[in-house]
Amino acid sequence: PRTSGFLDVAGIEVHYQAILAVRDVSLTVDDGAVVALLGANGAGKSTTLKAISNLLGPERGTVTRGSISWRGEPVSRLTPAVLVARGVVQVLEGRHCFPQLTIEENLLSGAFLRRPGRRQIAQDLEQIYAWFPRLKHKRRTKAGLTSGGEQQMAAIGRALMTKPKLVLLDEPSMGLAPIVVQEIFEIIRTLNREKGVSFLVAEQNATLALRHADYGYILENGRVAASGPAADLAAREDVKAFYLGGA
Ligand code: ATP
Repeated sequence: PRTSGFLDVAGIEVHYQAILAVRDVSLTVDDGAVVALLGANGAGKSTTLKAISNLLGPERGTVTRGSISWRGEPVSRLTPAVLVARGVVQVLEGRHCFPQLTIEENLLSGAFLRRPGRRQIAQDLEQIYAWFPRLKHKRRTKAGLTSGGEQQMAAIGRALMTKPKLVLLDEPSMGLAPIVVQEIFEIIRTLNREKGVSFLVAEQNATLALRHADYGYILENGRVAASGPAADLAAREDVKAFYLGGA
């Protein structure tokens, strides 16, 4: 299979104890690409993302076959923190802000591994606020009191404070109004264009994700059922019938 030298996932299988969650997933993300990982609830999207960022563990699931490498190095040798330092960061499903901290404190928590100086931090925050003007307005508000969309933006902003090369984004649209989701996908595109940040985005909303991605993979029961350039996938009759119906 094709390799990118950036993110390469080759034939992985993942078990949660006796439960086989991912059977055979191979995918690549090229440097500079936005890739959509699609599929129904339970298809294995989250498990695949967690395998990549090494968030699985003995009690949380194990990669039992295949390999994952980041810039040529097996991720199994790297802890999640080391992966973040090397440029791979995951935004978990369900946003996961610290509700009692302000939006700005949430963003700052993302800078902690880099230990940047004060001026650098101020600059980085301004950059985040330029991308997410809504966060600037809410900078002093406790995250728990902001809207779902603002919390999702804060979770993405916090990930960006790590200065990533690749962001693994799990279900950014979950529970959000279509207009907010649209806004989030547009910001992803801007980040990609302006900063060259690559994205692997797990999404149930295939129509929307394919509209904003370069390439897509569709998972079904833990396997890749279809893949291709986003526009080709969106135009395929079988894909339309199964995944884009009614959208
Ligand atoms: P969702 O949109 O619900 O997150 P998904 O495509 O991301 O769906 P996964 O969460 O990766 O799918 O789940 C894949 C399979 O693994 C499902 O059958 C799920 O029930 C199972 N699974 C996920 N997490 C666990 C766990 N911690 N323990 C046991 N089984 C799990």
